[in-house]
Amino acid sequence: MEELVSLCKRRGFIFQGSEIYGGLQGFYDYGPLGVELKNNIKAAWWRTNVYERDDMEGLDASIIMHRQVLRHSGHEATFSDPMVDNKKNNKRYRLDHLVKDQKADVITKVAEAMGQSAENFPAVVAALNANPAQAAGALRAAGVRDPFSGEVGEWTEPKPFNMMFKTTIGPVADDESYGYLRPETAQGIFTNFKNVVDSTSRRLPFGIAQIGKAFRNEITPRNFIFRVRELEQMEIEFFCAPGTDEEWHEHWLEKRLSWWEAQGVPRSKIEILDVPKEDLAHYSKRTYDLMYDYPTLGHEEIEGIANRSDYDLGSHTKNQSELGLVARVEENLDSIAKLTIPHPETNKPVVPFVIEPSAGVDRAMLAVLSEAFTKETLENGNERIVLKLRPHLAPIKVAVIPLARNKAELVDLARSIKNDLQKLGLGRILLEDSGNIGKAYRRHDEVGTPYCVTVDFDTVGKGEDASLTDTVTVRDRDTLAQERVKISDLSAYLQAKLR
Ligand code: ATP
Repeated sequence: MEELVSLCKRRGFIFQGSEIYGGLQGFYDYGPLGVELKNNIKAAWWRTNVYERDDMEGLDASIIMHRQVLRHSGHEATFSDPMVDNKKNNKRYRLDHLVKDQKADVITKVAEAMGQSAENFPAVVAALNANPAQAAGALRAAGVRDPFSGEVGEWTEPKPFNMMFKTTIGPVADDESYGYLRPETAQGIFTNFKNVVDSTSRRLPFGIAQIGKAFRNEITPRNFIFRVRELEQMEIEFFCAPGTDEEWHEHWLEKRLSWWEAQGVPRSKIEILDVPKEDLAHYSKRTYDLMYDYPTLGHEEIEGIANRSDYDLGSHTKNQSELGLVARVEENLDSIAKLTIPHPETNKPVVPFVIEPSAGVDRAMLAVLSEAFTKETLENGNERIVLKLRPHLAPIKVAVIPLARNKAELVDLARSIKNDLQKLGLGRILLEDSGNIGKAYRRHDEVGTPYCVTVDFDTVGKGEDASLTDTVTVRDRDTLAQERVKISDLSAYLQAKLR
């Protein structure tokens, strides 16, 4: 992981946010190559989930939302993590992170004090969350140390900390004029359900897809881009008739696993966690968490696929009592819309069930980069670092390299080849005229460029072999094979390789 983080900074994938002022914890900036990789991941997701299906629509809703949305969604009341304070130094920690970071013997003591086995960490966390007073005693008795000072802490009773970012809207800051930065993109889909149905004439079953930023004031952001405060999500809300939800849930589990596989994140590295009933979120009937085996971190959630029942639309609709809702929802006297759709069989208005595959773009980046990061020992004993990204994800598809940067003839031809390749719409093609060819190859191995095209003296008829005139060398990132290709064939050659 450390090597990957260093490569990300060195080569321009990911930088610490606000770095020149000392950095802001939990915020990252995506650099010249990071933005390309991120866009390619999002495009791959959109292609698979919107374009290649016949039952999906897209959406891009606003980030700041009316406080009523986040009130009726349940976020104001429940979108919180348990937090403990160390009275000795006034540091605050997320309770489960604090315990997880302790030495094994301390974790065992905490688990025992809570009447649990340390083997089953989720059960320990659930017990801590459920019994705040007992939790504080357990932390003290076990001698839980402060990760910052390293000393045994003086721990308070855990209390819930709401993770939503609240912001003032408009010039007057009073009790009414605030909204929230959305903590998930999902709510924008639910609030637009009726708009999408009315404007597209969709019938059940169908889904709405959205990619966008979400904000969570995480108590302890950490592990590089794994846990950040400004994140991006790729979410689908798939609406179906009650009773068909379980089948659709399985459908989406399968679809999502095969999508990850196509991005180079194999199934063998993903554990499917069927979340135990007692750990389910308030809206969920059943949830599968996809737990990817991140280097250093181990199995952590990369995507959640939840059966949200009729909770969300049921919470946001008016006339709740007439709709035969299955989920237990809070009364809503604020909504002005009836969020129903004709049942496909009876044609009677029904509040559909929702299956939600929700993946983090940042966590996807980290997984894709982790899988691609490879160290190889070459025949000559040298080591090379190579990012074996799938070509459709590579930030730069082809680097066109003039052998000498000070020979106008080579540089001009390389530029014209670059311009022609760029028009193919394959993604970014780079003119790499920074000098040394060896360095250029090393750099493009490290950033995952699938092909390097070199323009040399033979290309322009000034080399030793006249038969090589109007040909270039194409170097394959993975096999290191070099092939001489006619310039006139180059577009078709690369198109076939990169599509
Ligand atoms: P965790 O338990 O790890 O905090 P979560 O269960 O709160 O995650 P969800 O609310 O299910 O996460 O969000 C859906 C997806 O959004 C997650 O699977 C993850 O990929 C991404 N995500 C959530 N929180 C963060 C975060 N703080 N940083 C980066 N990605 C996140």
